[in-house]
Amino acid sequence: MPADSADEKPGRVVVVAGPTAVGKGTVTRRLLERYPDVYLSVSATTRKPRPGEVDGVHYFFWSPEQFDAAIDRGDMLEWAIVHGQHRYGTPRSAVEAARAEGRSVILEIDLDGARQVRRTMPGAHSVFLAPPSWEVLVERLVGRGTEPPEEQERRLATARVEMAAESEFDVTIVNDDLDEAVGALAREAGLDHA
Ligand code: 5GP
Repeated sequence: MPADSADEKPGRVVVVAGPTAVGKGTVTRRLLERYPDVYLSVSATTRKPRPGEVDGVHYFFWSPEQFDAAIDRGDMLEWAIVHGQHRYGTPRSAVEAARAEGRSVILEIDLDGARQVRRTMPGAHSVFLAPPSWEVLVERLVGRGTEPPEEQERRLATARVEMAAESEFDVTIVNDDLDEAVGALAREAGLDHA
C-alpha cells in the first residue's frame, strides 16, 4: 500500500511537467472544463503579469519579499527558480484544503518542483507532457510569439534539460491530439469515469 493517501481515489495529486510551450496550460484548462471539481493549483511567481493575466487567477504575482516571507513561514509546498530567472512555487494551503475535500489536484510545475513533490508526496502521480517532436516544440514557442527572441532561447535551453528528464516521470503523455491528451491526463487523475 502506498504510504500517501494521494494515491487513493478520489483526491489524487497529479504533477504535470514538461517543456515550455508544450501546451500544459491548454491541456489542464480543457481538463478543468470537463471536470470542474478538479483543483488546478494557482502558483505564485515573482515574474510580472503578461497582458491579460489576472492576479489570483493565472498566478499570484508576488514581490520577491512576499515570496521570501512565504518560504520562511513554510507556506510553499515546493518552489524553484525557473528559466534561471524568476521564482515560482505552489502555496501549500489551497492544495491541502482541496485534498481534504477529496478533490483531485493538478500541479503544473517545472522539473525541479516535480522532483520536490516526488520526495515530499510519494503518492503523487507525475506526468510528463511531451511534444510530438522537438521541431514542433520550437514552432509552437516561436509561433505563439509571447516571448522576445532572447527569452525564447532561454526557454529552449531549459526545455532541452526538461526533455532529458522524461524517464523520471510515472507516465508520458504526448500532446499531439488535444482531446486524447486531456483524456489521458483525466485517467491519470482518476477521473475517467465518463
Ligand atoms: P510561465 O512564465 O510561462 O507562466 O511559466 C514558466 C514555467 O514555470 C512553467 O512552464 C512551469 O513549468 C513553471 N511553473 C509554473 N508554476 C510553477 C510552480 O508553482 N512551481 C514550479 N516549480 N514551477 C512552476
